[in-house]
Amino acid sequence: MASPSNLTMVRPIHPSTLYWAAVCPRRFVGMHGDNQLPPTLAAVRGRILHAVREDLAAQLDRSSKALRTAAEAVFLAARTREQNRLEQRSWWMEWFDLGEHLPWNEARSVVLPMANRLAGITSPAPRRRAAPTQAGAAGAAEPDFPISNHVDPLPGIEVLVACADLGLRGVVDEVRQGADGWIVVEMKTTERAAGGEAAKIQAYTYAMALERAGGGSVSHCEILGPRGPFEIPFDEDARRCIMELLEVAQQADETEASPGTSACGGCPVRDSCTAYRDWTERQWAEGWPVAESDVWGDVDSVVPAEDETFTVDLAKPDGARALVRGVPLTRPGLDAGAAIEAFGLRPTGTQRLHGAPAAPTALHERPVGVARGLPPAWGAFWQLR
Ligand code: SF4
Repeated sequence: MASPSNLTMVRPIHPSTLYWAAVCPRRFVGMHGDNQLPPTLAAVRGRILHAVREDLAAQLDRSSKALRTAAEAVFLAARTREQNRLEQRSWWMEWFDLGEHLPWNEARSVVLPMANRLAGITSPAPRRRAAPTQAGAAGAAEPDFPISNHVDPLPGIEVLVACADLGLRGVVDEVRQGADGWIVVEMKTTERAAGGEAAKIQAYTYAMALERAGGGSVSHCEILGPRGPFEIPFDEDARRCIMELLEVAQQADETEASPGTSACGGCPVRDSCTAYRDWTERQWAEGWPVAESDVWGDVDSVVPAEDETFTVDLAKPDGARALVRGVPLTRPGLDAGAAIEAFGLRPTGTQRLHGAPAAPTALHERPVGVARGLPPAWGAFWQLR
């Protein structure tokens, strides 16, 4: 296996993306770009909760009670910041209100345990990172820049780690002192994410970067989910796994996309992925859904519906028809013959084929979505079918 140490990194790899290099190289490359579909509500929620943790961690000199008391205000402030950042992107839907979709009475079940855990950490004080750039905060890629080895003082919270050798750069949620070395902690805001392979790879990658940047030996990693932490060993197999993934990542630019995996449904660059489109259209022809929420084709008719919306009758490339309900009347320019595409809708009704779900019979709007290639007035359109 070739060492990646002699590889020239154009853009530092963030440990949170490395997992995708093994799933689909094009998705991995796309995640380092800024031409992505809007984030899902789950992704937005994760960003907010990480910001809450960082803000609470900056107040560790306060009492435990004060920290828990501050939790709601910190959450509300982080949610407002996120909403403001998202509104700076052209695909933001003005009607999508984070206050409605992420209320405090739901977030508290995650935020208060987070505050309790932080209250048990007394040393050292966390470092404050520079505020993210506007573009970076809204999901756009960081520009290219050279990196040199760096590890913030340890132990710590929100620890910046950069490893020039491996081309990795990121912020570790927490590094604790263990009996046999450092413990790298990766926080996830859902149990599903905490139990997933991506979280493990992310934690391993931080550990690898920390060691190779000269930060010292890591004994194991810890995934911290809503129900508490669990340990994963950071052994030679884990190190080998990360080195192999880094090799794959280095070749991702020259590697074909890999459609057909479950990854396509949530892929942030699927709207521009030719392989995905070709594969999806073949699946449509066979009557099976790929991503139930995506559709494109030519408009046959546009019918005013109730509550100030259109229903669009669409002929898909496979010849089948689909209805997209809830297209806002405020979106002019949609006429018969127009080609439209939309991503991130919700199936309204789903046919069943031999008892299994098949292609949706209709789709309707969902909180966040987008369609591209439309007249300018449709630049932020989000439905179809
Ligand atoms: S849509 Fe599928 S094939 Fe295309 S980049 Fe994304 S994961 Fe890869």
